Amino acid sequence: MDNTTKPSVKVGELEFPPRKVWMKTYGCQMNMHDSERIVSHLSGMNFSVTEDQSDADLVIFNTCAVRDLANQKFYSALGETKKSILKNPKIDPETGMKKDVIIAAGGCIAQTEGKELVKKYKQLDFAFGTDVIDNIGEMVYRAYAGDKKFAVTSWDRSENYSIETKITPGTPMAFVNIIKGCDKFCSYCIVPFTRGREKSRRLKEVVTDVKRLVEYSGIQEVMLLGQNVNSFGKDNGESLAQLIGELDQINGLERLRYTTSHPYDVTDELVEAHRTAKKLANHLHLPVQSGSNTVLQRMLREYTIEHYLTLLEKMRRANSEIIITTDMIAGFPNETEEEHKATLDLLDKAQFDFIYGYTYSPRKGTKATRINDVLTDDIRLRRLKEIQDKQMVIQAALRSQMIGKTYRVLVEDKNISKGIQKWSGRTSCHRLVHFEGTEPEKNYQWNWVDVEITSVTALSTQGTLV
Ligand code: SF4
Repeated sequence: MDNTTKPSVKVGELEFPPRKVWMKTYGCQMNMHDSERIVSHLSGMNFSVTEDQSDADLVIFNTCAVRDLANQKFYSALGETKKSILKNPKIDPETGMKKDVIIAAGGCIAQTEGKELVKKYKQLDFAFGTDVIDNIGEMVYRAYAGDKKFAVTSWDRSENYSIETKITPGTPMAFVNIIKGCDKFCSYCIVPFTRGREKSRRLKEVVTDVKRLVEYSGIQEVMLLGQNVNSFGKDNGESLAQLIGELDQINGLERLRYTTSHPYDVTDELVEAHRTAKKLANHLHLPVQSGSNTVLQRMLREYTIEHYLTLLEKMRRANSEIIITTDMIAGFPNETEEEHKATLDLLDKAQFDFIYGYTYSPRKGTKATRINDVLTDDIRLRRLKEIQDKQMVIQAALRSQMIGKTYRVLVEDKNISKGIQKWSGRTSCHRLVHFEGTEPEKNYQWNWVDVEITSVTALSTQGTLV
C-alpha cells in the first residue's frame, strides 16, 4: 500500500496521516541499531522510510561523537538540510500549502550538546540523547502537537536494562543489544560520557528475545551488541560466555557474533566458549589500539601487549579457524617514534586480518586532552599510513590462504563490478566474499551458499558457487 492509499492512524489526540522519515546515521553498529529501533517505533505512527530527503516529513540525524570528522559531517549536513528545505519546500498535495518538515538530532552529540544544538540551529526542532531512543514516539508526538525546540537528554535511572529487540523486516540478521554504556574511561574516549554507565540485560531476557526472533521473525544470524560486551552480566552474576552457551542451543539460529570487546575482560570461560559453541562465528574483533605498553598506560587501557598476545594465542588454540580484527589509534598524544614502531612490530606478531585504523582525535572532556601534545597532524597521518601499508601486506598473505577453500556465506547484497553482476556476503570469519550467481534470474539475497575462493587481494575476495 503506498502513502496515498494508507489510512491515518490515531495516536493520543492526534491523527497521523502516512508520512515519510529520512534518517542519516553516523558511527558504530550501536548507532545503526538505534536507528533501526527508531524506525521500528515510528512505523507504528504511520511513518515509512524514504531515501530521498526532499521527500521527507521528518528528518532525523543519529549522530556520533567518537571522532571530530563525524561531528563535522553532521554539522555540515544539518546546514545543507536547511538550505535544501528552503529551496524546495515540501508542498502538501491536498492543500497546496508549504508543509512543515520536522528536523531532529539524536545520538552521542545530542546527548552531550542537545540543549545547545537546539538553541544554536534554528532549523532543529528537537534533540534526544542515547538513553531515550525508545521514547522517540513521545518526542515526535510532542513535535507534531506544536511543542518545538526541546531537548531530552536524561539518563534511564532504572535498575534494569530491559528491552525487546526491534528488527528491520525482511532480513535474517538481527542486532541484539545486551549491554549499554561503558565503565572503562579510556583516556581518549567520549563513550562513557555519551552512553553512560554499564547496564546489562538479564541473560534470560536475551535468550527469550532471540528465541522469539528466530521462531517468529526468521532471524538466523545474531550480532550481540554493546560498547563492551565482555562486561555483560557482571552485576548480575552472569557472563557473556554463559549467554553464548545458551544461545548456541537455539534451534534455527545459524550464526552468532558479538562486538565490541575489551581485552581486559576476556575470560578463560569466554575463550572456552570459542572452542565449544558451534554457532559462534570464527571471528573476534578485539581492539588493541596501540602496540606500545607505555602508550597503553597513557590510554588507561588496563592491559599490556604481552597479555593481549597471550589472549590471541589462547583464542587460536581454542579455535584454529578464528580470525582476529582490531582497532588502532595512530599518533596518541606524544607517541614517540619508538612507541609507534612497537605498533608496527605488533602487526607481525598478531597477524590481524583487518585493522580499523584512525588518527587520534581529541574529544573534549576526556583525560587525553589534558596532555600537552606535541604531535602534528602530518606525523599522525604518516604513522597511520605506515600501519596501513604494513597491514595490507600481512592481510594479502593471510587471505591468500583462502584460495581453493570453500566457505559458507550468507548473501547480503549485489553490485555491478566491471559490467558483471556479483553477489556478496560474509563468511563466518567476517570476510566479505564476492561471487557470480549461476542462475542469472535468481535472487540470492539472504540465502546461505557455499563459495569456493578463486582469487584474493588484501581487500577483496572472489569466488565461485559450489
Ligand atoms: S572500553 Fe574504552 S574505548 Fe571502549 S567504549 Fe569504553 S571507554 Fe571507550
